[in-house]
Amino acid sequence: MRICVVGAGYVGLVSGAGFANTGHHVVCLDVDRERIAGLKRGQVPIYEPGLEELIERNLRAQRLTYTDDPAEALPGARVVLVAVGTPGSTDGNPDLSQVWHAGRLIARHIDGPTVIAVKSTVPVGTGDRLDQMIAAETTCPFALVSNPEFLKEGSAVSDFLKPTRAVVGTDSAWAEQTLRELYRPFMRTNDRMLVMDRRSAELTKYACNAYLATRISFVNEVACLCERLGADVELVRQGMGSDPRIGHQFLFPGIGYGGSCFPKDVRALIAMGAASDCPMGIAEAADRANDRQRRRFIERIAHRFDGDLSGRALALWGISFKPGTDDIREAPALTVANALLDRDAEIRAFDPAAAGCAQSYFGGRASIWLDMYAVLQDVDALVVMTEWPEFRNPDFELMRQAMRQPIIFDGRNLYDPKAMARLGFEYHAVGRPMEIGSLAEGGPGAEVTPLTQDAARLSLEATPGGDGQGGRGTVER
Ligand code: NAD
Repeated sequence: MRICVVGAGYVGLVSGAGFANTGHHVVCLDVDRERIAGLKRGQVPIYEPGLEELIERNLRAQRLTYTDDPAEALPGARVVLVAVGTPGSTDGNPDLSQVWHAGRLIARHIDGPTVIAVKSTVPVGTGDRLDQMIAAETTCPFALVSNPEFLKEGSAVSDFLKPTRAVVGTDSAWAEQTLRELYRPFMRTNDRMLVMDRRSAELTKYACNAYLATRISFVNEVACLCERLGADVELVRQGMGSDPRIGHQFLFPGIGYGGSCFPKDVRALIAMGAASDCPMGIAEAADRANDRQRRRFIERIAHRFDGDLSGRALALWGISFKPGTDDIREAPALTVANALLDRDAEIRAFDPAAAGCAQSYFGGRASIWLDMYAVLQDVDALVVMTEWPEFRNPDFELMRQAMRQPIIFDGRNLYDPKAMARLGFEYHAVGRPMEIGSLAEGGPGAEVTPLTQDAARLSLEATPGGDGQGGRGTVER
């Protein structure tokens, strides 16, 4: 079957390559000419584990092609997947301009019976409007289906290849049958396709994301209470998650959720509720708690330096909103970095995958480093923002030698406070009691004698993977 995927972003590229891998001929259409030109040269514009290999295999088999020309992409396609962006806007409603534009292109260029499946996350009723809009502009028979996507960045390929379910919103037997055929290879052990009406399918996606975001905000509020009451949220979290009715997932305290989906989808659900005179009070509270969580973390850093960050050098480990991706959209690291920059701190950042995106975002305001130890040289503190695997067991000795002060603010609770105290760090986690370490004659927060430049340089030269320039350099993507 010939499939056209409209929008070659995180969802479009993964779905396109995923469906091509089951033998279909897939053409990915994007209005971004540079992106398409790069893809044609073999450059995958996003970082997602396993994606390059999946794309390469299907390019070689000539089942996957790219174009920026709708007249080349759409004629002959029996299924069109809409995977364009639906970014948030200031009033909470998503900006649907990419969806309407995609709809116009589809209406103009389809040339036969077509199932149009909307994978983009869109408010309830968008499918109805798109249906009417396309019907007004084409004589081809078509069925407009809601087929929201549930993949997670960082594990998008494996999520797509092994979906927990496929939600299909349609009342057309033909569309249902076509999508069954499409998804069957991914559901060989048991059928996990849930067919429902289009509006319910659209709402399912928002309800899922808002619910998951609420769990994160809830445990973050519990973490705050732990700090006040002298409890340890890591223990509380385990106690909660062990209840099978609750489970462990999305119950990790930290600096709050971010990314291209949760924040905008929570706000979109709130906006839908407001427009329908049905307040989404829990989603509103989750959104506010998320904002508070970031601000609390920023205040904690500022407070540690007596409210004066001017001239303080702070290193960030992690910019992407989660590990396994280069996506920095609404990443908590950006909010934190911007707030610290506003207070005249010097920000140096390292991220294993998002260096290029971070460089474009910050321009010259923050320096982007290519070595996780070199970025620590002579800093007043390290701020851990993303739980990349390489941050879990770092060389603490090397870190302590490089840093001007061995202070860590950990927004992801990666380390054990007792072990950190033994290692001589002043360690600030979220919702966990701070241990008084061997370091601090004067208690945690005592100023530590700075290392000499030479000592720091020596220890950095020993860093595996160091680039000889202290790890800092121009980032090329
Ligand atoms: P993205 O911004 O990475 O990609 C969107 C792509 O669509 C861009 O390359 C853009 O140039 C292209 N585009 C815009 N208008 C177009 C048009 N008229 N014709 C052709 N191409 C066009 O977006 P994304 O992260 O892949 O998200 C896509 C949708 O899927 C959103 O609604 C999002 O909420 C939803 N979603 C995303 C994820 C995720 O993890 N990223 C997961 C589930 C659902």
